[in-house]
Amino acid sequence: MRLLLVEDNERLLALIRAALAKAGFEADGLTTAAEAEEAVRSVDYAALVLDLGLPDQDGLTLLKTLRGAGFALPILILTARGGLDERVRGLDAGADDYLVKPFAQEELLARIRVLLRRPGGLLGDMMELGEVSLNTTTREVSIHGRPQLLSPRETAVLEMLLRRAGRVVPKKLVEDHLFGLAADFGSNAVEVYVHRLRKRLGEAQAGVQIHTIRGVGYLIARG
Ligand code: CA
Repeated sequence: MRLLLVEDNERLLALIRAALAKAGFEADGLTTAAEAEEAVRSVDYAALVLDLGLPDQDGLTLLKTLRGAGFALPILILTARGGLDERVRGLDAGADDYLVKPFAQEELLARIRVLLRRPGGLLGDMMELGEVSLNTTTREVSIHGRPQLLSPRETAVLEMLLRRAGRVVPKKLVEDHLFGLAADFGSNAVEVYVHRLRKRLGEAQAGVQIHTIRGVGYLIARG
């Protein structure tokens, strides 16, 4: 699961990214509204954390642009503007939640978790197929009820496949989710994670298999 974090205070950006990473979320960090808009248009993010005071454009304007273009991803705004009017304007413009600076990192994480499991959102808490279960909140994976130690990226690939069980997941989509805007990944990176997952599922007799659909992507199914 990949998040986008837009904040022009680079020190704060780094602090939040570190806190997110520690909590198991990978996040792309950007500092301008223009970069953020381009990123949302090219990567399928699970949520956006958006600072309102950006150097090139007001975050509220970006928020309206994204909603106007049909992007439905959960958006949490960060604002130093704590006035009631400002908060109402943010929510009216299509934000799902807001946090007033300064805030505690624990609160930001808690609110992101709520956004990711809101009704009608993309995520439920537990996903199960065969003997595999994945808790999308705690990121715990178990097979036959036994906890498995998977890397965050292996867990992310498994989640994508489970979310679309029985359907083909394009490899490109998996790459977007895993790496977002990062350019520094090998062309066979996704294959490596899928290979490790297959091995784990096989060894633990999970009752599910990951099929490769040549030239397209992957599909997980019971088997
Ligand atoms: Ca700012």
